[in-house]
Order: sequence, then C-alpha cells, then structure tokens
Amino acid sequence: MLEIKNLHARVADEGTEILRGVDLTVNDGEIAAIMGPNGSGKSTLSYILAGREDYEVTEGDILYNGESILEMEPDERAASGLFLAFQYPLEIPGVATMTFLKTALNAQRKARDEDELTTPEFMRRVKAAAGDLKINPEMLKRPLNVGFSGGEKKRAEILQMALLEPKLCVMDETDSGLDIDALKIVADGVNALRSPERSFLVITHYQRLLDYIVPDTVHVLSNGRIVKTGDKDLALQLEREGYSQIIEEAA
Ligand code: ADP
Ligand code: MG
Ligand code: MG
Repeated sequence: MLEIKNLHARVADEGTEILRGVDLTVNDGEIAAIMGPNGSGKSTLSYILAGREDYEVTEGDILYNGESILEMEPDERAASGLFLAFQYPLEIPGVATMTFLKTALNAQRKARDEDELTTPEFMRRVKAAAGDLKINPEMLKRPLNVGFSGGEKKRAEILQMALLEPKLCVMDETDSGLDIDALKIVADGVNALRSPERSFLVITHYQRLLDYIVPDTVHVLSNGRIVKTGDKDLALQLEREGYSQIIEEAA
C-alpha cells in the first residue's frame, strides 16, 4: 500500500532537514502506529504524505500502490484514496456539515471521472454511514465544526472518512486533547472501517489511543528517522520506560 524510502524533507526554503531518511512500509489492511517525542517529525511526515506545498522532499520517494506520489497535487492524492485526519479540524462558518460532505464526495467523484451523486443517493449514503457510526443526523445541519464539542468534531471527521472510503488513512495526533469518550468515538470509527483493503497510519505521542485501536505494527520516530519497529507491545514498553531510554537503546 505505502512504501516510504529513504525520505529526506525540510520546510521549503529552510536548510535544516526535519526528516532524515525515513523508511517505512504499510501493507494492505495494516494498522501501523507511529509514535515519537515532540518535534521528531511526525506532523511533517503526515503533511508530506498529504502533499502540503510548504514542505520539500530533498531525497527518497513515497510509493503508494507502487507509484510515486511526489508529483501529485493534494487533491489528486485524495482522489486516489489518501485521507488525512487533522489534529485540529477546521471550522467553516456558513457551510453546513451536510453540504461540506456532499461537496467533498462529489469533488472526489469528479476527479475519478464518476458522475455526481444525486441528492437522494447522497442522503441515502450519509444516513447509512451516520447510522453505522451512531451519529445524530441533526448534527449535519450545523456549520462544519462550528461550536462542535471535541467529540462532535471527531464524529464529523470519521463520517467524512467513512463516506470518502479512503484506502489509506493518516491520522496525525487525532487523540490529542480528547477525553476518553471522544477517544472511543475515534477508535470505534476506525475499527468499524478496518478492512483488508484499507490501511491506517495512526500517529500518536501517547500509548492510550492504541489501547482502543490495536495496531499491527508500531514504529518509533526520533529525530527524523524510524529508530525502532515492533508490535503493539512496543507501545506499552514506550509507556513504561519512556522515549529516551528506548531511543538510546536503539542508537
Ligand atoms: P512532531 O509532530 O513530531 O511534534 P513536527 O513535524 O511538528 O514534529 O516538527 C519536527 C521539527 O520540525 C521540529 O523541530 C519543528 O520545530 C520543525 N518544524 C516543523 N514545521 C516547521 C516549520 N513550518 N518551520 C520551521 N520548522 C518547522
Ligand atoms: Mg508536535
Ligand atoms: Mg505533530
């Protein structure tokens, strides 16, 4: 699904490398976690996967289903099945959540040369997905994320994810600042969307989320490199022993 090879990257026009040779493979259906201390480059990696133009890849490659995505625009990446969940979802006053979802879905369909969904067909899909995720449809009439609680923002995001049916979901510290109920919403959503054809890259500083989204693999990112890879027990070890000990041992 995803193969990151010797990826070096920096903020465009700045000298210092943030990613310094990341190697990472995520297989079809795999849930891979990336854990790392603050400043290790976790968000940079997710922005680069999404195609943010203020970051620059200086070496290496990112292959998605065997093809390099480095030259692809963010919307092309999204159309090809990449989904990025943000740490802080944007508020969009004046745009009903329902309208936002329909626009996003139809933009994706257009990029794939598929017909726009009719309103009844769109409504059928939203209702089905909202039902699966136990989302109150009343929420969808409100402007996107405006005045939403932390849990409601996460519900809106998971619903968006469910509707767009991505193949690879990158979730950057989606758990930060969430209470346990909101955390469970995210985890239930991810677990409901787990399938042999869909992979997840779950980026987190804390082990707690991984109690609910049990990863197949855990990678430790430190100073722009993956320094250790293991299974879910590695996350527990990090929680017990702290990052510095594990990173020193790996070095
Ligand atoms: P993490 O998400 O693991 O906390 P980040 O990817 O946010 O790490 O940051 C990694 C390093 O890159 C940090 O030292 C940070 O200060 C630096 N960095 C990230 N974005 C920028 C930017 N836009 N301009 C300058 N430095 C940046
Ligand atoms: Mg950070
Ligand atoms: Mg970050």
